[in-house]
Amino acid sequence: MQTTETKTTYNQPNARGYFGDYGGKFVPEILIPAITALEQEYQKAQNDPEFLREYHELLEEYVGRPTKLTFADKLTAHYGKAKIYLKREDLCHTGAHKINNAIGQILLARRMGKTRIIAETGAGQHGVATATACAKFGMECIVYMGAEDTVRQKLNVDRMQLMGAEVREVTSGSQTLKDATNEAIRDWVTNVEDTFYIIGSVVGPHPYPMMVRNFHRVIGDEAKRQILEKEGRLPDYLVACVGGGSNALGLFYPFMDDDVQIIGVEAAGYGVDSGQTAATITKGTPGILHGSLSYLLHDQNGQIELAHSISAGLDYPGIGPEHSFLHDSGRVQYHAVTDEEAMEAVKLLSQKEGIIPALETAHAFAWLENLMPTTSKDEIVILNLSGRGDKDMKTISENL
Ligand SMILES: *Cc1c(COP(=O)(O)O)cnc(C)c1O
Repeated sequence: MQTTETKTTYNQPNARGYFGDYGGKFVPEILIPAITALEQEYQKAQNDPEFLREYHELLEEYVGRPTKLTFADKLTAHYGKAKIYLKREDLCHTGAHKINNAIGQILLARRMGKTRIIAETGAGQHGVATATACAKFGMECIVYMGAEDTVRQKLNVDRMQLMGAEVREVTSGSQTLKDATNEAIRDWVTNVEDTFYIIGSVVGPHPYPMMVRNFHRVIGDEAKRQILEKEGRLPDYLVACVGGGSNALGLFYPFMDDDVQIIGVEAAGYGVDSGQTAATITKGTPGILHGSLSYLLHDQNGQIELAHSISAGLDYPGIGPEHSFLHDSGRVQYHAVTDEEAMEAVKLLSQKEGIIPALETAHAFAWLENLMPTTSKDEIVILNLSGRGDKDMKTISENL
């Protein structure tokens, strides 16, 4: 067992699943027994050495962890300021961080005797990670995906189907992630006896935001160990893109008590004031969506607004409750970059480092344009390279 548990005074959420004012369990009554059972089982699993051993063994042997912390020498030279290190979640099996969480949750599902797995997906990365875990564990897999996303991310639909998952196209609403999540929750309510809902980010009712964060903290635990080995000290800045916020919290969480500036980058879409944005913290106000209270893009009548981002994985009007807390407390700074800025960043990273990032990830890189000029040569930046861009090649080609 190799957990590098960081000692921390940062102690969120509370027993009721609140991160400050945010979080909770806003679910239909019929789901209360299911999430209570999940909470109890997760509590046990977290303290079960055998569960943790199997989880870490799968991360090592199947996912390919630990992922590298690569020094980006060309990108560093380009800005001529702080040293830039990349935490290479793009090197995980299936090409993004999401598999860390899918593996953790499927182990829980098996422990609870569930045989049928459901999931929602936007870019398809969580769907692919879930389909992968289901194939490996021999479980039935149903993935809800907005019809618009099935077009944008056809390659991921094909991958899921090849691995034996059933992909259900959702044609309601904006036909994207929000609507796919609605359908997944509807399915869960109907089939709660034998079904486990694998949620793909730090969103949903308690205990999901906490659980998903904990399954991803391996990113930050490794990064901390790796930067201490390479530089003998902690970084000055952490940067990650934020959709629901799971890759970001995975990196950030083990550094909460450290003297490190932490930056989350949202998708501004056409611009934060364009009316076509996914910058939830920047433009939203608190409200309830998909089981928890958090910042949300909604109008005065409480109607959820359509989010827009060039990257399907950030195209969501909500955000995990822990991010809302971290924003209000000032511990994490949130910024937003546009579709266009993200596309420029895809080009820059591809040409400078020979790494094609996912469009989601490109948002974190785009913020370097603002951050780097304010840094100095003796400082260190760690950026979470949440996923690779192969899935986005069609969108990238059309926009170049
Ligand atoms: C899904 C995804 C994201 C956004 O999800 P978070 O929960 O915010 O991490 C970011 N990057 C990649 C590569 C993704 O697949």
